[in-house]
Amino acid sequence: MTIKIAVIGSGPSAFYTVQNLVKSDLDCEIDIFEKLFSPYGLVRYGIAPDHQSTKNIIRVFEKFLLNKKVQFFGNVEINNDPSLNQLMELYDAVVISTGMAKDKALNINELNKEGYYGATEFVNWYNGHPDYVSLNPNLKSDTAIIIGNGNVAIDCARLLVKNKNELENSDITPYAYKALINSSIKKVYIVGRRGPLDAKFTTVEIREMGELNDCSALLSNGTINSIDKNQLNDDLSKQYKILTNFPEANNINTGKNKSVEFKFYASPIEIIGDKKLTGIKFKNNLINNNNEYFTINCGIVISAIGYTGDKISNIKTNNNGMILHNENVIEKGLYTTGWISRGPNGVVGTNKHDGAKVAKHIIENITDQNKEGRKGIKILLKNLSIRYISKEEWVMINEEEIKRSNKNFSRSKFTSNEEVYKFLKTIVSN
Ligand code: NAP
Repeated sequence: MTIKIAVIGSGPSAFYTVQNLVKSDLDCEIDIFEKLFSPYGLVRYGIAPDHQSTKNIIRVFEKFLLNKKVQFFGNVEINNDPSLNQLMELYDAVVISTGMAKDKALNINELNKEGYYGATEFVNWYNGHPDYVSLNPNLKSDTAIIIGNGNVAIDCARLLVKNKNELENSDITPYAYKALINSSIKKVYIVGRRGPLDAKFTTVEIREMGELNDCSALLSNGTINSIDKNQLNDDLSKQYKILTNFPEANNINTGKNKSVEFKFYASPIEIIGDKKLTGIKFKNNLINNNNEYFTINCGIVISAIGYTGDKISNIKTNNNGMILHNENVIEKGLYTTGWISRGPNGVVGTNKHDGAKVAKHIIENITDQNKEGRKGIKILLKNLSIRYISKEEWVMINEEEIKRSNKNFSRSKFTSNEEVYKFLKTIVSN
């Protein structure tokens, strides 16, 4: 009577589903499939390394990962080998929680420009994601531009300007720490296409920008006059207060050697430079402004304008990459949760609701169909010559990452499969 459940992805939405299933009294076996060797998705590779308190949610997820009903299959990508159909043949219920981990395109002339990075590339790089270790972002110029007015833009800016001490007590990858503390960047622009009241930053994140040791937060000249105060409401007034307390950029000598300038009403229309970018041309969106276009010179551009998801064969998505579903049900026995089901918005806890809903569907509607579940997938993976990382192996990897880190950091991540398998071999041979 054991229900066999497969969850694809291991980020917050996957774990909130697992949590609800484990906490119910459903007789079930839950297998989590993750394309990387490590669990936790965006918590490990998305949340900024200096926001350790947000990353602490891993402790809650870990409790459910370690539950005896749950197994982990790391380094297994469900798409071609094995396919989603193969998984559905083996499990009574399959939940797609693959998130959105690809940058939305800016769609100007950014392609192949040296010095241009999507935020996922830059964020994955400083967080030690195995696919981005060799990104080597250009930190040799004095000016960076970040496009977008969300919290990811703030994360990128903050990491570019924090000093040595401020980057410690984090789990930043050692190579990124070294590169960032030796960076030449002194000036960062965060540029939004709309006004300050339309920005999607949250209060805590903006406030933090005004509290940095070596960096001032500034408002572009004229910003305060551009704000239509009639639009202010209770939700906006806190952010407005913090933002407008930042000094305007023209009359400032803060004594700090770096600055982040918030610039509004500017849409990027052209990356300047041939192979290597040298700046961006913007269109000024302020009505009645005579200076319709302007250019800011820089050596690095990070576009933080939102995400899209990877496609899974035979699963229908809309133009934004979101899976088509009805109340998280794709069809009986096939479900979806998290960003891939509702778009890239909200904080970690926003996924709680999705997880609870899908768990409820499974508990109420799915019966044991005598499928092979874990026993079957192990045979299939063996036949496909896929060497997966088990839960027990992840526990050892996790312990080693913590053990081997310098005392000023909370962990030193493994950043490649080669390194992980080599480590596991040494454990077996000891
Ligand atoms: P976001 O909050 O949706 O912000 C995206 C920004 O990009 C918006 O300002 C948007 O402007 C702009 N944009 C979109 N297309 C553009 C274009 N073609 N040209 C110029 N600008 C464009 O997305 P996010 O920053 O990626 O964050 C994703 C989610 O993760 C959010 O819910 C965020 O709060 C959360 N997050 C939270 C934290 C935290 O709590 N510390 C940290 C990181 C992320 P428009 O508004 O004009 O469309």
